[in-house]
Amino acid sequence: MKEILIDYLQRNRLHRFDLKAVIFDMDGVLYDSMPAHDRSWQQTMDELGLTHEPNEFYLHEGRIGKATIDIIFQRNLKRDAAEEEEKRIYARKSELFQEYNSGDTMPGSKEVLEYVQRMKLTPVLVTGSGQPSLLERLDHHFTGCFTPETMVTAFDVVNGKPDPEPFVKGLQKGGELQPHQAIVIENAPLGIEAAVGAGIFTIAVNTGPLPDNILYQAGASLVFDSMHELSEVLPEIIRLTGEVTA
Ligand code: MG
Repeated sequence: MKEILIDYLQRNRLHRFDLKAVIFDMDGVLYDSMPAHDRSWQQTMDELGLTHEPNEFYLHEGRIGKATIDIIFQRNLKRDAAEEEEKRIYARKSELFQEYNSGDTMPGSKEVLEYVQRMKLTPVLVTGSGQPSLLERLDHHFTGCFTPETMVTAFDVVNGKPDPEPFVKGLQKGGELQPHQAIVIENAPLGIEAAVGAGIFTIAVNTGPLPDNILYQAGASLVFDSMHELSEVLPEIIRLTGEVTA
């Protein structure tokens, strides 16, 4: 564990951590919502007769809707979706998601957030989602953890994941932080790529069907099987960030 933290510092030409914030992705990290996203995307494309590949929507997780739709369109129809088509397709996907989403939080996520708050670190949310009711829902499940000032949503960025912009904004919202003052918890390859691109130490929780090596290849320093497993090792990780130097 220690070596992994030192390796991050060396690769980023940093001397040590100065941890102030923990940046959380939402879908697949705080909420067990990815199966519903996957099912709604698959059904939407099936209804249009457009083919998709196994686990494709898990691989695209974090992209804005238009980018995902265009990838499917290019493969099937050799063109991008027109704006009208894109709106209709995304509306159908969202409608199905409302129907299928359980709203369940990810087991272990509350424990992780409780620990972060107990350690007086600032929890920050970085999500590509743009649902207007997001904050109320988050405040209901994770009371007092996030405010509009500590959240980056689809409305705050020009370039979504895998661009680093959402996490660069996340550092700003965490209190004008530098990359070595935060760590990121992500589940998706493109989210990991974005966080690593922003220079932040990135921990993956593999809560979906993809193999661990895809998350390592995206740049994750550590990969855990669940938020529950992360909740058990997080105290050790945070303790070590206060100790290691490079
Ligand atoms: Mg996610």
